[in-house]
Amino acid sequence: MMRVAVFGSTGSIGVNALDVLGRHPDRFSVVVLAAASSHGRLLEQCLRHRPRYAVLEDPQAAATLAAALRSAGAATEVLAGSTALESLAGSSEVDAVLAAIVGAAGLPSTLAAARAGKRVLIANKESLVVAGRLLVETARASGATLVPIDSEHNAIFQCLPAASVAAGRAVPGVRRILLTASGGPFLRLTREQMARVTPEQACAHPRWRMGRKISVDSATLMNKGLELIEACVLFGMEPGGVRVVVHPQSIVHSLVEYVDGSILAQLGNPDMRTPIAHALGWPERIPSGVESLDLVAAARLDFEAPDLGQFPALALATAAAASGGTAPAVLNAANEVAVAAFLAGQLGFLGITEVIERVIGRHQNRGETGLEAVLEADRWAREQAESTLARVARA
Ligand code: NAD
Ligand code: MG
Repeated sequence: MMRVAVFGSTGSIGVNALDVLGRHPDRFSVVVLAAASSHGRLLEQCLRHRPRYAVLEDPQAAATLAAALRSAGAATEVLAGSTALESLAGSSEVDAVLAAIVGAAGLPSTLAAARAGKRVLIANKESLVVAGRLLVETARASGATLVPIDSEHNAIFQCLPAASVAAGRAVPGVRRILLTASGGPFLRLTREQMARVTPEQACAHPRWRMGRKISVDSATLMNKGLELIEACVLFGMEPGGVRVVVHPQSIVHSLVEYVDGSILAQLGNPDMRTPIAHALGWPERIPSGVESLDLVAAARLDFEAPDLGQFPALALATAAAASGGTAPAVLNAANEVAVAAFLAGQLGFLGITEVIERVIGRHQNRGETGLEAVLEADRWAREQAESTLARVARA
């Protein structure tokens, strides 16, 4: 029995993960469920999965959940706050942590799981962007296993030799990684049309149903930029060794090219339960509930180069990957602030990348990658982005 903690269980990844876990009660037991504040959804999940612990970031929501669980006669113990999450990530009652919190808020608990030598199933890409080097080095030192859930990185992982598990080191024989991108909902829009899009349009992704933050990231292509950094971190690549390819059907989830010219790809229906099941079962294969891919019905697989003029976020992220140090943390924090402002109706869609570009332009990168340095860069970039918002919004 693998005892699994699901951090971010009420989100899009969390719900898919619980669907897969629920198919294998003989293999996995869910011991922790955690979310930010949605006590109603967490209550339902607790009644179904009977975890030992439930954690909510918000203490008031946690109190509401505790009362509801008591009156339902459930034995789940309710805890509140992020320190509870960190201690559970390292607890002897947990074997695997499925890191599916959104944003840099997921870093402390993901890092705690890596320090404690757990099996860490990472969907929370922002933690790898902010503190990637630290995470892979910590995992290497503690013996933790990092298995990526992000569909592209999971695909790359599947296309690499088995011994080369996401250790942050270059894999011998690999020439480059081809990272596929759906192109998001605005692939064919002009910049003028993009200037007028609404949060609802940005969140209506053509291929995947996801949380709102990653949906906006997919629309700006910042998601692919974050994923490029994530790929460099996990697989020990330089940014020049990762090529982004737009593939609107989202059937080829990414590819690895070897020095002999061979290219291996992973294909499947666009359903996150496949990478989640792969990460949970690895090195074995377990059913995920995903339908067979009908290649004849799909009929075509198209590939094209991304347009960096139309999607400057991708260029900004590539530059941050090349700079290293605290640049990725600054990029990520500015993006989180700008996306939240866009979702709140305070910033236009094109303003998102403009805010990020301005903040990066003011950043002094000393090349440090330690925890204090990246957290300080994250704090600084959030402040800078907040103060830039008003100026960009008025412009
Ligand atoms: P979501 O917004 O649907 O869910 C986020 C979850 O995190 C929720 O359960 C929320 O309650 C919880 N959360 C947020 N802040 C928290 C905090 N401070 N403490 C505790 N819990 C907190 O997001 P999502 O789409 O499920 O994405 C989660 C992560 O997975 C993101 O990093 C995203 O980039 C990545 N990812 C998502 C997909 C996808 O298909 N949705 C695919 C690949 C990668
Ligand atoms: Mg992805």
